[in-house]
Amino acid sequence: MNLSNAEKVLLIKPGEIMLKGDNRQIFEKRLKENLKSVLSDFCSFDFEQESGRYYIIIKNSDYTEYEISHELSKVFGIVAISIAYRIQSNEELLYDFIAKFAKKVYDLKPFSTFRISTKRADKTFATQSVDVSKKAGGSVLSVIEGLKVDLVHPEITFNIEVRKKHIYVYYEQIQANGGMPVGSAGKAILMLSGGIDSPVAGYMMAKRGLAQEAVYFHSEPYTSEKAKEKVIDLAKTIKPYTLLKRIYVVHFTKAQLAIYEKCPHDELTIIMRRIMMYITNKIASITNCQAIITGESLGQVASQTLESLTVTSQAAEYIVFRPLIGMDKTEIVEIARKIETFETSILPYEDCCTIFVARHPKTRPVLSKIEESEKLLNINELVKDCIDNLEVIEI
Ligand code: ATP
Ligand code: MG
Repeated sequence: MNLSNAEKVLLIKPGEIMLKGDNRQIFEKRLKENLKSVLSDFCSFDFEQESGRYYIIIKNSDYTEYEISHELSKVFGIVAISIAYRIQSNEELLYDFIAKFAKKVYDLKPFSTFRISTKRADKTFATQSVDVSKKAGGSVLSVIEGLKVDLVHPEITFNIEVRKKHIYVYYEQIQANGGMPVGSAGKAILMLSGGIDSPVAGYMMAKRGLAQEAVYFHSEPYTSEKAKEKVIDLAKTIKPYTLLKRIYVVHFTKAQLAIYEKCPHDELTIIMRRIMMYITNKIASITNCQAIITGESLGQVASQTLESLTVTSQAAEYIVFRPLIGMDKTEIVEIARKIETFETSILPYEDCCTIFVARHPKTRPVLSKIEESEKLLNINELVKDCIDNLEVIEI
């Protein structure tokens, strides 16, 4: 849409968390950095900020403003993005502009009813919101024949925001996910497998403001290069939400073979999961994480009974967040589809947890008994070996 004397901007509305509380400035700064970090993958831009609003002026990009807005809508801490036009704050200019703007919109896609909604953030602006709406509405009616105002169920709403320097006009709004800016609640390590659940778990904790590192356990040659690529793909897909920067790949074969050789077979899974926890703990402490995130859900498989989860947690020093614990698979799948991880997650590559499993794994492990079996292993050495051979993949 070419409207001379107006400048196109993406108008970003932060969530309510931004409007109150002592931590407002910290939240604002974090959100700004997060928005910029996602934007820098798509365009060059100017960034402006004023009370309760962020503005992005796209300079150069191979993407449309819709595509960029779609990516930005994944950044937690904002509730909506609008593709807006701004003009100097001048009343006559506004009425003239809104008529031209509405006509352009109408020519692209005709409508028969409309409404004007005005927000007057600049209280020094002489005319009250209701009167601005009335006058702007009159201006629109004068250029499009047969149009009606409908305040209750309009086909289209034109929004006007009057601010100190500029007036913003827009009609499209892309909904975002709310939540808290990633990083505002600290950092955790996400145990990321290639399955459906763990990317969803990462998404959910990012929503509450947790920055994340990711750890993936790989058992070549039993798990293939394809399985690893799948995890990298998933990490990239959740990156705009979680702002993940890298994956720590643990080469886990030696540890798994040791468990298989030395421990009772009905305890293989639980011991393996505890060793994954020991290693994850270690990486958490090296990378300044304060919690561990998993995609476990109560009763989903043998390793996710209450007893198994308890004994697994007892291997962790950090708090273990399991945001999917009370969710059904169908609910998890719904989110996986929404965040576009589902199609990748269902690709049929093996996971290290699915090799070396007993036909009848223990579903009610007892800690003291498991600790006895673990004495058959040199756990410190196994953990150290995995840490010494960590592979880091930047994403
Ligand atoms: P998912 O769909 O996330 O793979 P799942 O239903 O297959 O989960 P499990 O295989 O028992 O369940 O894994 C439970 C959790 O343990 C996963 O959600 C993930 O957080 C972690 N996990 C499992 N396998 C791995 C792995 N290879 N690397 C890192 N974490 C893993
Ligand atoms: Mg799995």
